[in-house]
Amino acid sequence: MAMDGRTLAARIRSEVAEEVRVLGGVGLATVLVGDDAASDIYIRRKHEAAEAAGFRTLDLRLPATTGEGELVERVAELNDDDEVDALLVQLPLPDGIDEEHVIRAVDPTKDVDGFHPLNAGELLLARPGLVPATARGVMALLAEYRIELDGARAVVVGRSAIVGKPVAQLLEQANATVTVCHSHTQDLARHTLDADVLVVAAGRAAMISPDMVAIGATVIDVGINRTSAGLVGDVDPGVADVASHLTSVPGGVGPMTIACLLENAVRCARARRG
Ligand code: NAP
Repeated sequence: MAMDGRTLAARIRSEVAEEVRVLGGVGLATVLVGDDAASDIYIRRKHEAAEAAGFRTLDLRLPATTGEGELVERVAELNDDDEVDALLVQLPLPDGIDEEHVIRAVDPTKDVDGFHPLNAGELLLARPGLVPATARGVMALLAEYRIELDGARAVVVGRSAIVGKPVAQLLEQANATVTVCHSHTQDLARHTLDADVLVVAAGRAAMISPDMVAIGATVIDVGINRTSAGLVGDVDPGVADVASHLTSVPGGVGPMTIACLLENAVRCARARRG
């Protein structure tokens, strides 16, 4: 069965729009440094979705020559701006800017991406507040399709702070037994074949082939890879013949990320208004 992220994301976005209306407006600010084409597309999509849901938005664009000190100052101004409930700095940042310093500069209560160490720590301690949107999107899809997680064997391929780690923590908090694989994992298939639920976030086109997936497994493909054949995921489409549930790329996790980002922004606004 194809897991349809578009339909679920549309439903979440309309619920978000209603909450924004009830709250009397929510302010979302984004900061983009430089002119990376992919980042520009991601920022535009976030703004389109936010505006459609009735957010007030601020799209701050800074030149690629912006220094770390100046960027941190601009973030501090947005932290102090009462009109801004939620704030993100689009990654990756140009060379010469330490992403860690910039992430730490964002007020944790406005950290709509959930990347600040305080929010990452709360998640680790199973007190999730602002959780990275892609990880929440994965969990929302699993819930929508009523995939049993309690006692399930879950395998996550990828251990980044923005996808793999938070997904693994949420799966563990849902009582799955979780294995995290990465680029040093020996014999990846030995692990993936053991999965009832397989989440792949490695950024390697079609790296998971049908012979790496157990019959009847649920497979969530987070990967987005630009190839000569267009956008493809980390999972070979032939896995559909083996898996019981599979997300598509595009149309799976991608739309969920934006919808869950907007949900996080509403969370920021609610928390700031007590
Ligand atoms: P990342 O920071 O580059 O992390 C990739 C992870 O995959 C790393 O932990 C890496 O291991 C692991 N890895 C790489 N090659 C591997 C291999 N051959 N076998 C096993 N593990 C391997 O990437 P990311 O930011 O997490 O993103 C992952 C993918 O998801 C990308 O395609 C990205 O575009 C996509 N993405 C999609 C969405 C969405 O909304 N759908 C959102 C975010 C990201 P090491 O730690 O050992 O290096």
